[in-house]
Amino acid sequence: MTVTVAIIGSGPGGFYAATALTKEIEDCRVDVIDRLPTPYGLIRAGVAPDHQSMKKVSARFEKTAQDPRVRFLGNVEVDRDLTLAELRSMYDAVVIATGAPIDRRLGIPGEELEGVFGSAEFVGWYNAHPDQRELAPSLESGTLVVIGAGNVALDVARMVAKTGDEVRVTDMAHYAVDEIDVTPIKDIYIYARRGPLQAAFTHKEVQEFGHLERAIPLVDPAVLPPEDIDLTSKGRGNQEKNIALLRGYAVNTGDEKPVKIHIAFYAMPLEILGDDGRVTGIRMERTELLDDGSCVGTGETFDLPCNVVVSCIGTESTVLEGAPFDEKRNRFVNADGKIDDGLFASGWARRGPTGTIGTNHPDGVAVANMVMELTPDPAKTGPDALDALLNERGVRVVTFDDWKRLEAAEEEAASHGAPRRKFTSIDEMLDRLG
Ligand SMILES: Cc1cc2nc3c(=O)[nH]c(=O)nc-3n(C[C@H](O)[C@H](O)[C@H](O)COP(=O)(O)OP(=O)(O)OC[C@H]3O[C@@H](n4cnc5c(N)ncnc54)[C@H](O)[C@@H]3O)c2cc1C
Repeated sequence: MTVTVAIIGSGPGGFYAATALTKEIEDCRVDVIDRLPTPYGLIRAGVAPDHQSMKKVSARFEKTAQDPRVRFLGNVEVDRDLTLAELRSMYDAVVIATGAPIDRRLGIPGEELEGVFGSAEFVGWYNAHPDQRELAPSLESGTLVVIGAGNVALDVARMVAKTGDEVRVTDMAHYAVDEIDVTPIKDIYIYARRGPLQAAFTHKEVQEFGHLERAIPLVDPAVLPPEDIDLTSKGRGNQEKNIALLRGYAVNTGDEKPVKIHIAFYAMPLEILGDDGRVTGIRMERTELLDDGSCVGTGETFDLPCNVVVSCIGTESTVLEGAPFDEKRNRFVNADGKIDDGLFASGWARRGPTGTIGTNHPDGVAVANMVMELTPDPAKTGPDALDALLNERGVRVVTFDDWKRLEAAEEEAASHGAPRRKFTSIDEMLDRLG
């Protein structure tokens, strides 16, 4: 008997689940629902536009979407167009794979000032996420501060540090290319609370700072560990490579290129300073590391004038009506992916927002294994019931074929060797589809 499955979210968490389901269960019908008309979640809207090879993983998901047992239903939002309870009444299994799209707050005074952004907003802006099209960060000032020591922080700094020519060949949103092309940015500060050995970024991302056309990375040699520290033991390979790269950057003077990327450690933001509703600076406190690896403020503060602050300190999930959410762990309450009978979680909705695209793969396999154990209910007609409901509500569903038409239009509109010129609003996409 056919097992019917609805997956909410078409990012890696959702598509790895769809792929595993079609592999493990011959007789299944899988609907992958997304609030956007475009599939693939953060592969399209998070991964940096100059990391096109990373985005190629979506080819694997495209194969799944083209399996006759699978459908993509874009422009359908759970909690707007239909409820989780409705989906559960129509499908044998529902998988929540909605990611973690909301920026975590810094929780310091001044955060509400104009010119302060979270990474999901800022990255969404340059990646043409329709939610962030109107963000319009003004980069006309000379100094940008990035808070955080993960790869997202480095992505943000790198994208702004690039020249117009460097970003024009990527699929960065055309309005962001225009802004970056003319920005007279001079200094980009990346602030990490702890030291270089604790930083979460990976050496590949650090390395890219060494190959930018107009920007040069700078590091204070005093913050680096002693030369004789042993980083060769197992599991410290990334640290060893990071430190080697940072040592190389520590000899730069800043005169080499017009834009300076200051990679700074042992400092945390205390307050964002402003005037007339806009950011004018940031007050930082120096920190020191404790034996347990955490850090505390030393009481010594300093102010840095700046006009844009991007905090890259992580994101949070959106809740869905009818699914228990664990605020503390920042994910849906689940035991190894199971939330309730017939209700599962995959990807960041299951684990919280950590890990790479590939980290979501086992989540999908686990979901498929649990769905295999279910006894299908013939009354749960899945796709047929969903189509009737969405039709009745007048929802304009974007199918995978529609998406392929949008994709072809984006590729056709590309210039300067860019892979595509992205649509930047849902209306634009729906208009194009007619
Ligand atoms: C800025 C950034 C850069 C990254 N770069 C890399 C990288 O270079 N390499 C790498 O391996 N990993 C990278 N990652 C990590 C990787 O993107 C994640 O591991 C992965 O995308 C998580 O998958 P997910 O499916 O859980 O969430 P997402 O990819 O966020 O997908 C969630 C999907 O759910 C949809 N959705 C949300 N709510 C609803 C709703 N109510 N109804 C319907 N649909 C909904 C969203 O529109 C979205 O499409 C990056 C992450 C970020 C934030």
